Amino acid sequence: MDVLDLPFTRTRHDRAAHRRTEPDLVARALADPTTRAVVLHRGRLAVAGEPARAALLPASGLPDGLALFLGEHDGAACLAVVLPADDDPAPPAGADAWAGLRDIAREQVAALAADDDAAVLAHGLAVEAVALAGWHGTHGYCPRCGAPSEVVQGGWARRCPVDGRESYPRTDPAVIMAVVDDDDRLLLGHAATWAPGRFSTLAGFVEAGEALEDAVRREVAEEAGVTVGSGPGDVVYRGSQPWPFPASLMLGFRARAVTTEVRTDDDEVTDARWFTRAGLLAAVEAGEVGLPGRASIARALVEEWYGGELPGSW
Ligand SMILES: [Zn+2]
Repeated sequence: MDVLDLPFTRTRHDRAAHRRTEPDLVARALADPTTRAVVLHRGRLAVAGEPARAALLPASGLPDGLALFLGEHDGAACLAVVLPADDDPAPPAGADAWAGLRDIAREQVAALAADDDAAVLAHGLAVEAVALAGWHGTHGYCPRCGAPSEVVQGGWARRCPVDGRESYPRTDPAVIMAVVDDDDRLLLGHAATWAPGRFSTLAGFVEAGEALEDAVRREVAEEAGVTVGSGPGDVVYRGSQPWPFPASLMLGFRARAVTTEVRTDDDEVTDARWFTRAGLLAAVEAGEVGLPGRASIARALVEEWYGGELPGSW
């Protein structure tokens, strides 16, 4: 288990990257009765069951769409089938509904806590499928010449038929940090776009040519006017979580503040406050503060600092 045990990180399947260059990999998998596939439409998954999870459907009877190789499990190929965005399809046979990963996050957290093998398999495939499908949805053209590109390597690359340029799925790193002062208080911020009372850890994208530790210090300074130390142990990595909405990888840190005066940028972040453990618990119980959802690394970082589960947010 990693430092933080997080939803969206658990998986049972093997990505089997060495197979991606096999000739006709996807076509052969689609003809194999042991193959299982998750089906997506506009970033939403065909889900089934109670609690809802991504349906793993047999290859026979799958709707037509872009088929991508996710890996294998117990010797069987695992695919994603991405339906055309402009249709308004009913869920495929074997599924009950369409749902986004975040819509079923609550059920996923429970299944992961129970270490339910089938649920963890479905969960891991779903996260990979949403991330990979999202990339195909926005990268249909060659970045060099603009020609429509072709899907190759089982869906793990796109190739330009004109100039041969290959593109690969992108992941955008973002830092997210529990900033703690020398009195062991936690800094939480409120973003301009959030509902009143919602607070979370500060976060932001890593910029070009920037180290993660520098991104942590820059974001905290920009958003809250607080200085994070640059000494040994002042910025400590805690764990990561893919956040494929559409392509983020959240890199979680604990950071030590060396100043405490707060000055928000009033652009992205309109309020930032220091909380003691008792103060945060009281604010949450009084309904004055709403914390991020339990599927998020933000929640995990807050609760790691707190030393246990906090109430609220389902
Ligand atoms: Zn090209």
